[in-house]
Amino acid sequence: MENQSSLDINPQPENTNTDKTVLKGLTLDELKNYFSQSGEPRFRGEQVFNWMYNHLVTDFFDMANLPKVLRTKLKDNCEIMTLEFVESEVSSLNGTKKYIFETKDKNKIESVIIPEEGRTTLCLSTQVGCPLDCKFCATGLMGYKINLTAGEIYDQYVLAAKDYGKENITNIVFMGMGEPLLNYNATVKALEIFAQELTTGISKKKITVSTAGIAPKIRDLADKNLNVKLALSLHSCFEDIRSKIMPINDKYPLRQNIDAVKYYARKTRTRITFEYIMLKDINDRDDDIEALWKICKEFPCKINVIPFNSLQHMNPAGLSAELEPTSPERIEEFVQQLRDKNITVMIRTTQGEDIAAACGQLAIKYTQ
Ligand code: SAH
Repeated sequence: MENQSSLDINPQPENTNTDKTVLKGLTLDELKNYFSQSGEPRFRGEQVFNWMYNHLVTDFFDMANLPKVLRTKLKDNCEIMTLEFVESEVSSLNGTKKYIFETKDKNKIESVIIPEEGRTTLCLSTQVGCPLDCKFCATGLMGYKINLTAGEIYDQYVLAAKDYGKENITNIVFMGMGEPLLNYNATVKALEIFAQELTTGISKKKITVSTAGIAPKIRDLADKNLNVKLALSLHSCFEDIRSKIMPINDKYPLRQNIDAVKYYARKTRTRITFEYIMLKDINDRDDDIEALWKICKEFPCKINVIPFNSLQHMNPAGLSAELEPTSPERIEEFVQQLRDKNITVMIRTTQGEDIAAACGQLAIKYTQ
C-alpha cells in the first residue's frame, strides 16, 4: 500500500520507464527465446507474436489466451507500443492520408496511406530525417537525426492499420523518411516480421524496399532470402549527374548499384523497379532515354517515372533551389520513346501534394 500511495502522488508516465523490455520489434525466434529465458514456455512467444503483429493488440490485458498472472507480469516488465499517434491529415484531392507519430524519445515521424484504384499503399519511414542529402528531397533538406527501431517501423503499420482498417492496406513501401539500407538491421527485422504472412496478410510481392543505392547492402538483402521487392532510386544513368543530385553516388557509384540490383533480381527472382524523378534539363534529354534503355535491356526491370514535387515550401538553397519539373508534355514524349523500345514504364501520379505527403515531401514541420 505504501508503494501505491507514492505512485499516486507522483505517477510515472509509462513511456519514461526505460527499464522495460520492448517486445515490439522482436522477431518470432527472439520472442520465443525471451519467454523461455524468463521461465515461460516457448509457445508463449508465438502467442504474443500473434497478438502484437497480427491482431494489433496494444495492451497485454487484451491477450486473451495468456494466463492473467503472465499478463500482469508482462505489463510490469515489458512495453508493447513504441509510437504514439499525434495527428493525421487527409488530402482533399485524392484521399491520401498523412500520419504524424511520436517516438518515446519525442521524435516525430511521418507515414502516408495512398489509396489508388485497385490498391492502397502504406508508405513507412525508417529514419528520423535522412543523411543522404539528395538535392530533390525534402527529407534530405532537414538532415538526419536518428535511426528508427524495428518496433518503431512496425508500429507505423499498427497505428495506420488500426485507424484505416488492416484489411484496407494492400501494399507496403519503405519509401518514407530515411534510407532503409542505412538502417539495415532494423529494416531487415521489420521485414522479417512483415514477411511472416500470419502478421499483415500482405504478400512479399506487395512489400517494396526503396533505396538510393547502398550497393553492398543490396547484396546482403538479396542473401537474406526475404524476397521482397526492391526499388532503386535511379534518377540519372550518368555518374557525374547522379553524383550532383545524389551525393551518395560518390561513395556507391551507379555501376556498383546496377551490378547489385542485377544480383538481387537473379537471387530473389523479382523484377527491379527503377524510380526516376523527371528533372528539367537534368535527366530528361534524349541521351537519358538511350542510357536508360542500355541499362534496362540487360535484365527484368521496370521504370517508375515520377513527376518532381516542388520543394519551394522549404525555401531550399543551392542546387535544390534550381530544380524544376519536366513539363507533362515532355514526360509523355520521354515515356513513349522508352515504351517504343519495349521498356515497361509507369508514370506515377502525384498524390497528397496539398498536405505535403507526396513522395519526397515528408519532412517534419515541428521543431523539437
Ligand atoms: N531513401 C530511399 C527511400 C526514400 S525516397 C530512396 O532514396 O529510395 C522515396 C522515393 O521518393 C524515391 O524514389 C525518391 O527519389 C522519391 N522522391 C524524393 N524526393 C522527391 C520529390 N521531390 N519529388 C518526387 N519524388 C521524390
